[in-house]
Amino acid sequence: MIYFDHNASTPVRPEARAAMEAALADLSANPSSTHREGQRARAAIEHARAQVAALVGAAPEMVTFVSGGTEGDHAALIGAAWAAEPRGRRVAFSAIEHHAVHGAAEVLARTGFAIGHLGVGREGLVDPAAVAALPPDTTVVAVMLANNETGVIQPLAAIAAAAAARGMRVVCDAVQAAGKIPVDVRALDVDTLALSGHKIYGPKGVGALYIKRGTRLKAFVRGGSQERNRRAGTENVAGIVGLGRAAELARDDMGAESARLSGLRDRLESQLLATPGAQRNGEAPRVPNTANVSFSGVEAESLVMALDLAGVAVSTGAACAAGAVEPSHVLRAMGLPLERVQASLRFSLGRGTTAEDVDAAAKLVAEAVDKQRKSSRAYASKS
Ligand code: PLP
Repeated sequence: MIYFDHNASTPVRPEARAAMEAALADLSANPSSTHREGQRARAAIEHARAQVAALVGAAPEMVTFVSGGTEGDHAALIGAAWAAEPRGRRVAFSAIEHHAVHGAAEVLARTGFAIGHLGVGREGLVDPAAVAALPPDTTVVAVMLANNETGVIQPLAAIAAAAAARGMRVVCDAVQAAGKIPVDVRALDVDTLALSGHKIYGPKGVGALYIKRGTRLKAFVRGGSQERNRRAGTENVAGIVGLGRAAELARDDMGAESARLSGLRDRLESQLLATPGAQRNGEAPRVPNTANVSFSGVEAESLVMALDLAGVAVSTGAACAAGAVEPSHVLRAMGLPLERVQASLRFSLGRGTTAEDVDAAAKLVAEAVDKQRKSSRAYASKS
């Protein structure tokens, strides 16, 4: 199988798995316990915290462990909105945010918060100037660093500066950026930044939220006083250890791996774009592993199934809700016509990808597109 769906999830690196296995075998006490066994588990968590902090240029105490990207987005958006409630009950998020951010905004909307949006241009970028047009009672703005469908990297530092000038908090979902491009929270100057273990070759069900010193969040998950009262619940020690190791390795490898991946992605894209009627979606700087391409006249969902049978795992950006496939809100927000959105595929490469995979996949995609176009023409001429 040629696996081109790394933006959905990545395999756990052997080093991260080994670290997790050792933690599962050896660290069984509760990290909040004061005895020595508890303190050994605590030390493993603190080591992982420093590893994650180093990946994003933060101090360790600014990192809170959570259960993944979705929880990180909830803790950030809801926590910042609750903390700023005396100043206003309105938040905004970009039109291309992940469903995790939509979900957090829904929680706020249920308790009477107003929700605003920042649009994007055809190239897939949020315009920092749009922040100036937000109503003055907006307290928190959520903008992702790299989009999961197109890979487009957002001008976060400029957005954060525009928001700070208006007294707004900026919460950033960096789930698809971390480990792929250098992320430095000092340069971005956002209030919070979320990342997820399973997108950086670590385990699923664990993530981290950077919280800038001085940024106030009201805890979303409440109970015990773990994570300095920021996130209740006994820590997922093995998961955190795996995330820490994966973050450390991502930082070590990033330069060489990004260069390798962008070369492979460009090679794939140039072959795909040679197919008649193929167009790239997202004309702006992107993370190195992602290509989003539409093939006119095809039905992307069927193409995903045909490619699966042919041995290539890809995806559409679509989310399946109640059995129905929703067209990608990201591509729609970029102003692409519905037919083009429904004819778009995402290819996301990763550590295991080789040039042979790229060439073989490009050929299989061209064949599958051709086959689907021929059969729909045959169907149309019969009916
Ligand atoms: N944010 C983005 C941009 C994502 O791509 C994802 C996962 O697809 C998430 C958040 C959710 O992360 P998790 O699966 O760890 O909850």
